[in-house]
Amino acid sequence: MTGIVVLGSTNMDLVAYVAKAPQRGETVTGREFRTVPGGKGANQAVAAARAGGDVSMIGAVGTDDFGVRLRAALDGSGVDTDRLRTADGPSGTAHIVVDDEGGNAIVVVPGANGTVDHLAPGDEAVIAAADALLLQLELPLAGVIAGAEAARRHGVRTVLTPAPAQPLPPELLAATDLLVPNEHEAAVLAGTTDPGAAAEALLRQVPEVVITLGAAGSLYAARGAEPVTVRAPRVRAVDTTAAGDTFVGALAVAIVEGRPMPAAMAWASAAAALSVQRPGASSSMPYRPEIDEAADADHSPVNH
Ligand code: AMP
Repeated sequence: MTGIVVLGSTNMDLVAYVAKAPQRGETVTGREFRTVPGGKGANQAVAAARAGGDVSMIGAVGTDDFGVRLRAALDGSGVDTDRLRTADGPSGTAHIVVDDEGGNAIVVVPGANGTVDHLAPGDEAVIAAADALLLQLELPLAGVIAGAEAARRHGVRTVLTPAPAQPLPPELLAATDLLVPNEHEAAVLAGTTDPGAAAEALLRQVPEVVITLGAAGSLYAARGAEPVTVRAPRVRAVDTTAAGDTFVGALAVAIVEGRPMPAAMAWASAAAALSVQRPGASSSMPYRPEIDEAADADHSPVNH
């Protein structure tokens, strides 16, 4: 078991499937509706727990029924929710319209997530006892920074997924050990769409970077070392929702278990490749035995 704390968001995704999304003032009839537990923080927590990590989640759900279901979904995947507060008011929700061409339009209402702008008493002790703290940007920045700085005070490794993409304040970069953007986020942060150049630019701000490249795999760069590309297994993708969160959750488990970075990335790639072959977000995330089996079967080369 490995000690991972996730400080992040929980959202109920409310998904309507329609032939064509409505224009302003228009009403259309949808085909199907689903409620799916999500939020980048919760998704990374589920991914890490299923990958074999000992995972605790810090964040907040609301006092509504969604809050009960969001907590139960985390509990069901083995995430410790003792530090997940229940804040007065609604849970975070994401209102998603998916059309027949697979395009989507999303409104996120932070709800309870918006209350996590500070650490609660006891949170710092939980972070201090961990091996790694996973952070994303779906909570108020003040809360994310408070968590990162607490981890820094106790020598706990921080892994930041800079999503949704936005410029990062210097105090957050200063408390980040490993930054894991996707290509789009890397371009926003570094001002270039070339992943190699983006990694080089980001290394001026943080000591280690992994840029995820979708089906092309992932790129690792660290100060004073040659960048390494790890290919993704070739699979037939049916739904890439939460592939990045699956990758980060599994990567964190591999890192705290002491695997060197390219091996950790290869193992995380095996986990993410399993998730893209099944529909769904956290429901598509694999469990440890499947990841080990897929990783053993895959011999994708590591390019130096
Ligand atoms: P992304 O957020 O799209 O960069 O994806 C994150 C990670 O998920 C990638 O680094 C891959 O390991 C994995 N992944 C995403 N899409 C695919 C795909 N089509 N085939 C295999 N792996 C994928």
